[in-house]
Amino acid sequence: MLRNDQLDQWDREAFFHPSTHLAQHARGEAPNRVIQTAKGCHITDRDGNELLDAFAGLYCVNVGYGRPEIAEAIAEQAKELAYYHAYVGHGTEVSITLAKMVLDRAPAGMSKVYFGLGGSDANETNIKLVWYYNNILGRPEKKKIISRWRGYHGSGLMTGSLTGLELFHKKFDLPLANVIHTDAPYYLRRPDAGMSEAAFVDHLVAELEALIEREGADTIAAFIGEPLMGTGGIVPPPEGYWPAIQKVLDKHDILLIADEVVTGFGRLGSMFGSDHYGMRPDLITIAKGLTSAYAPLSGSIVGDKMWKVLEQGTDENGPIGHGWTYSAHPIGAAAGVANLKLIDDLKLVENAGRVGKILNDALRDAVGGHAHVAEVRGEGMIAAVEFQKDVAGRKFFEASEKIGPQISAKLLEQGVIARAMPQGDILGFAPPFCLTEAEVEEIAGKTAEAVAAVLG
Ligand code: PLP
Repeated sequence: MLRNDQLDQWDREAFFHPSTHLAQHARGEAPNRVIQTAKGCHITDRDGNELLDAFAGLYCVNVGYGRPEIAEAIAEQAKELAYYHAYVGHGTEVSITLAKMVLDRAPAGMSKVYFGLGGSDANETNIKLVWYYNNILGRPEKKKIISRWRGYHGSGLMTGSLTGLELFHKKFDLPLANVIHTDAPYYLRRPDAGMSEAAFVDHLVAELEALIEREGADTIAAFIGEPLMGTGGIVPPPEGYWPAIQKVLDKHDILLIADEVVTGFGRLGSMFGSDHYGMRPDLITIAKGLTSAYAPLSGSIVGDKMWKVLEQGTDENGPIGHGWTYSAHPIGAAAGVANLKLIDDLKLVENAGRVGKILNDALRDAVGGHAHVAEVRGEGMIAAVEFQKDVAGRKFFEASEKIGPQISAKLLEQGVIARAMPQGDILGFAPPFCLTEAEVEEIAGKTAEAVAAVLG
């Protein structure tokens, strides 16, 4: 086995890490960590530190680490047939089975599943399908996509454009043309403190209507949104938001893409966030929870209305010009089948709802009364604590004070991983669905200590 100092040197010299300060990493100024093993909700690094992973990797290891059922399914598939492509009607038992299992769990009105590798490429697929759809319908002008500020949809060219976070645009010449952003349904950041939740929804609807009016409904193809905003701050929508938005989209014949990369397969305590919040999407993006990250796999679930037009398109133009070498990769599909079975067998969606509520309540009890805690919010097995300098005066800390990162670093010292969300002082929690009540206590207790250590 390599020595830790050798690994550290190679890491600094050879490895380009995503979402990392490249210069500090290369110079050895920023800490690194090499993870070695994991079980349940805990990971262990090469230095022997055991950490409670209250963010499930990147909110993806939903069934928890070290599940032999999934590992064995992957190994069996690799031995029997590690690869065959899915082009021109080819498939494998696991890829076909997984498509059926996904549709059986999906919201009403869904027709087919296209499989990719990660959330970003699944959203790229979705935008191509939306453009194809409008071309087949003879509406070549209807192409713009509305996304939300603080939405997160990936970091490719189109998906990085859809993402409404500055870091993903700056110096990359993004967003691309054809992508427009509207306001986030972020009640804490409503324009006026006195605005009720219902008035805030009306305000967001009016903003959206004004944007559509300005751009022209005949130029707008689709609206994309996460049922509950994730990376932008872990923000559940205000009451009535999605039905109100859906009404505007229906009126202007604008498709809805529900990006369920985080919420799909149980995170909110419901199988899909679309059902949880009353959305009627035309396309659903899935990834993370599809395999609980045991292998890379994503999907685009296509609704009936779009599917009919895609069929018409291929009758008129020949086979669809879209596909990856690794679409529906059998090893990913084997992981997906085993993962969804495990979620059913262990009733993990139910557990996410039940223990998730205990987690949300425990965090609220532990830090909700702190003078600098503006809000503890969440739904199912996802939660956030947001900090402000002056809560009554609605004043935020300066970004340069790095309050969120400081608190997550303190928590890490105590053996708990929570994520400092990238924009704002927001501490995010999204543990595996198998979290126990004892682990909830540990997370809440140590969070209170970390908050006190940084903010008094
Ligand atoms: N969509 C959402 C809602 C996500 O949270 C993410 C990743 O966090 C993505 C898309 C992109 O997925 P990936 O990182 O697998 O490309």
